[in-house]
Amino acid sequence: MLEVTPIQAFNDNYLWLFRESGSCDCGIVDPGDAEPVLHYLKENNLNLAVIIITHHHGDHTGGINRLLENYQVPVYGPDSANIPAVTHTVREGSQINILGNTFKVLEIPGHTLDHIAYFNAAEESNTPVLFCGDTLFAGGCGRVFEGTFPMMHESLQKLARLPAETLVYCAHEYTLANLAFASAVTPENKTLAQRVEQEKEKRSRGIPTVPTSIRAELDTNPFLRCGEPEIIAAANKHSGRQLHVPEEVFGAIRGWKDSF
Ligand SMILES: [Zn+2]
Repeated sequence: MLEVTPIQAFNDNYLWLFRESGSCDCGIVDPGDAEPVLHYLKENNLNLAVIIITHHHGDHTGGINRLLENYQVPVYGPDSANIPAVTHTVREGSQINILGNTFKVLEIPGHTLDHIAYFNAAEESNTPVLFCGDTLFAGGCGRVFEGTFPMMHESLQKLARLPAETLVYCAHEYTLANLAFASAVTPENKTLAQRVEQEKEKRSRGIPTVPTSIRAELDTNPFLRCGEPEIIAAANKHSGRQLHVPEEVFGAIRGWKDSF
């Protein structure tokens, strides 16, 4: 069974460490900082066997070289001039076998043009796992820095089509701020109101709100629900326009969030 553990870095990053239960070999997703990873490996007698990267931002890649000084391991990542440390480039549909688990690569541009996600479909009783960097967040989504709103919307829809039970390991603890915005968009959403209470309670005890699930996001995340009447109505009211297609609704609420 795939076990996934958060290593905290910077203010609010999660570097996800994964391994087969009981194995000493592990992988790390997006090591923006090497020190907390090296510390965790030593404390837990683990051996780093692989690094996987979702996109080029420094808080996801800054620790790669330092880790490679200690562990000579493959680095999987997108075909991007901005990440020279990648040794194994992957693209849409690539299937990679890592530590006994198969991950399928999804290209999800928008936050950056090189952004990819890794999806482990799981077998038998295991739960599917998604590493999605800064694209889908618990209750929200990443800023659109390099792509376009329609591009980011399509990338999020690609993730929304994954199995509902999929555990979503995003790279930041932004959940309460995201849910505050979601509550402004859909104040009548009772499932969202319940979620806000649950996530606040976790944070009050210092517990991560991540992973989330695709199901929870489909129920409460406005950025995955741009075709729903309540989101369209809120986007129209806020923008003072009559928006029809989900891509436009997405653009309106993403712009709204940027100035929220
Ligand atoms: Zn980023």
